[in-house]
Amino acid sequence: MNDVAAVEALRSRVRGEVLVPGDREFAARCSGFQTAYRHRPSVLVRAAGAEDVAAAVRYAAGRGLPVAVQATGHGLSVATDGGVLISTAELSEVTVDAQARTARIGAGVRFDAVVDAAARYGLAPLNGSAPGVGAVGYVLGGGLGLLAREFGYAADRVRSIDIVTADGRPRRVTADSDPELFWALRGAGANFGVVTGMEIELVPVSRLYGGELVFDLARTPGVLADYLRWTEELPDGLTSSVSLLSYPDLPFFPSVLRGRFAAHVRIAYTGDSRTGARLVAPLRALGPLVSDTVAEMPYTECGAIYNDPPQPHAYLGDNILLRAFGPQQAAKATDLVGPGAAVPCVLDVRHLGGALGRSPEVPNAVGHRSARYLLRVLMPLIGASADEARRAGDEVLGALAADSVGGRFQSLVYGGCADGAPAAPASDFWEPADHRRLAGLKAAYDPVNMFRCNRNIEPAD
Ligand SMILES: Cc1cc2nc3c(=O)[nH]c(=O)nc-3n(C[C@H](O)[C@H](O)[C@H](O)COP(=O)(O)OP(=O)(O)OC[C@H]3O[C@@H](n4cnc5c(N)ncnc54)[C@H](O)[C@@H]3O)c2cc1C
Repeated sequence: MNDVAAVEALRSRVRGEVLVPGDREFAARCSGFQTAYRHRPSVLVRAAGAEDVAAAVRYAAGRGLPVAVQATGHGLSVATDGGVLISTAELSEVTVDAQARTARIGAGVRFDAVVDAAARYGLAPLNGSAPGVGAVGYVLGGGLGLLAREFGYAADRVRSIDIVTADGRPRRVTADSDPELFWALRGAGANFGVVTGMEIELVPVSRLYGGELVFDLARTPGVLADYLRWTEELPDGLTSSVSLLSYPDLPFFPSVLRGRFAAHVRIAYTGDSRTGARLVAPLRALGPLVSDTVAEMPYTECGAIYNDPPQPHAYLGDNILLRAFGPQQAAKATDLVGPGAAVPCVLDVRHLGGALGRSPEVPNAVGHRSARYLLRVLMPLIGASADEARRAGDEVLGALAADSVGGRFQSLVYGGCADGAPAAPASDFWEPADHRRLAGLKAAYDPVNMFRCNRNIEPAD
């Protein structure tokens, strides 16, 4: 139950909107891209600036309330029930410094805005597959992007982070100002405060040889094994993945895909198109293609490579990191998610290595860098309950975990719940020594665990 006078006092201190249950727009403003569950705070603050964030954090601190953060809702992991939800959606400023090859981005900025702003100078951010994802949330969780094998994780190329910590204090954190916190924020950031903005590096990429090749697995059943073999000799400039998906015969899928068990190989190559075509030729030779969109494209079109659905929906996802993925495992994986699967799921394999395998110039909390592949299951919640989908996903990953490096990649675990129990143990997201170091930092910066609606690191004793 809110103290009405305290909420009024908060309203008088912030420029943005302060909403409580019962206010018109409250439910709509709390909702996000993930529709399987949503935040149910006792107070929602739509911040208009860093001072609003600081006021909201101090309000929560004074009452012992948890603080949750939402930009777009693509990555909701633990929904708050009560507590303060800070929406960063209005912090939408993007400024590019073309000479320094950096962009300063507000915490509500979606990647499409950064891609467009950077493209004016022939530059690009290290965005992922979907243009609608929030740039800051993605970077804080690691950020495995389209250009990842050449330039590393998005968290590897951050210059400074503006954050309000649990004491309500806004700080600019850099490698020089606070090396330990800077290390932690890049890979475990949501645990340490509310980020209001950051300065990220841009890379000199204005075009790509990219797109997708789609195969019908009824005609080319060995695509997954062939794809894995193909990845063994690739230059770092080529980042790719393959997704296996059995399409129901339903009208909202494109007619060429309906009823097919398809493999989508996604490609982003920064080299010239001639070399790209030569590198992709062995895949094109595998068999008849349902479609082939791999071609020269401006970087501003990069969202077309994955064509992720832009409409909010309900989904779960989990992943494991593998040091190897052989042909027998590939055949097993293809069987597990084929048309006979009881619960439909997408199996997605991302090729790692290259710059992802190297520690960045300024080290960060993203670990498990020896992994060669990220194996992910994605379950849109259509015709299956969350429990059924989670069990099905666990079975697929469990059956293929023989060569796991023993961890998960944080950004690409989707799902959680409203009762505080996370979908996966937080210790899985970091290497054991890093997890201990993070728990020590958590005890220093957030001893009462105010920021716990996330992949939560409990403060060390
Ligand atoms: C369709 C789709 C495609 C995706 N593609 C990729 C991909 O290619 N590569 C990849 O690595 N990931 C990918 N992701 C995952 C995505 O990067 C994460 O879900 C990310 O957390 C989304 O951030 P958001 O701000 O959009 O979501 P939100 O749900 O608004 O935020 C997610 C979480 O991030 C934290 N957070 C967000 N903003 C702040 C802040 N300002 N301060 C502190 N904590 C904050 C909070 O814990 C919050 O709960 C994809 C997700 C979807 C749904």
